Amino acid sequence: MEAGGGLKRYVRTEPHMGTYFTIILYAPDSEAAEAAFHAGFQRIRRLDEIFSDYRPDSELNRLCRQAGAGPVHVSRELFEVLTLARRVSEASRGAFDVTVKPVVRLWRRARRQRRPPSQARLRAALELVDYRAIELDAARRTVRLRRRGMRLDLGGIAKGYTLAAVLSELAARGIQRALVDGGGDIAVADPPPNKNAWRVLVPTPEEMRGEPVILRLRHSAVATSGDAEQYVVLNAKRYSHIIDPRTGWPVVGPRQVTVVHSCATLADAWATALSVLEPEEAIALADARGLAARVIYSPRPGSFESLDSRAFRKLVSYQVPSPVPPRP
Ligand code: AMP
Ligand code: MG
Repeated sequence: MEAGGGLKRYVRTEPHMGTYFTIILYAPDSEAAEAAFHAGFQRIRRLDEIFSDYRPDSELNRLCRQAGAGPVHVSRELFEVLTLARRVSEASRGAFDVTVKPVVRLWRRARRQRRPPSQARLRAALELVDYRAIELDAARRTVRLRRRGMRLDLGGIAKGYTLAAVLSELAARGIQRALVDGGGDIAVADPPPNKNAWRVLVPTPEEMRGEPVILRLRHSAVATSGDAEQYVVLNAKRYSHIIDPRTGWPVVGPRQVTVVHSCATLADAWATALSVLEPEEAIALADARGLAARVIYSPRPGSFESLDSRAFRKLVSYQVPSPVPPRP
């Protein structure tokens, strides 16, 4: 479809990283679009080979096998993700922690077996959880995991990094007007031709009725963390797949956090980090750091509340003026 400036809109979806990625882009012709899609999805495949939890041979898992030894020289991508993860861990005082994997594992099993892990197991796993035990050497680009048995989980941050990487891959090929969606987390570059912004819908839990929120974004990203899809109910409590690394227990839901940030990696990490904190505490931290965040939670069964940080409220009320219509 002709969209102005000689650019046409192209859309493609592929399954990657256990979810669906969609790229929407504007290109002069199908050949340029094809080349861009190829490069974009190729980038996702490459990053999956680095970050994957499931592939035994991923760079991440190779690094984990060196826990207690090392240091290990790593790719630029892995080093960048671990550096940003460290920043969010420090700023959230450990609510976000990629070393939480041994505990995540116990709770995955608990979900299948429908009973919580034993205290002894939890305690042993928690011994291995501490982001400060990841040594990063920027000059040598090496990583050392100080404790034997440590395992990393990039599930809370890698998707955001991937979205940003796809946009830069497209930009390198001259495609500036693009949107990438990875399982509901979205990053956008320049808006479509003749538009001031991309219109992005903030997801709202099904149980919560109300007006959907539409954000108008450019060069920005939206990430949502929640327990809508992955949770287990034990003793009438709804346990999320997000773990509080300070206690080893999952967040009790339902809860959903949306973060808008110019950096897709940080949007993803902060959405996970703020999910761990109590809603008021999450919003206070978001306000202190100027983060745009919305927390939806259920104070009582069947009722929902939503709290917005100041920066989020500003985003919602800010309306990009529509372009002046051409004179007839
Ligand atoms: P997200 O959907 O981005 O919130 O990521 C959730 C995933 O992050 C989980 O499935 C775990 O793999 C991982 N995770 C769980 N708890 C934490 C945490 N406190 N800090 C960092 N990653 C976590
Ligand atoms: Mg996340």
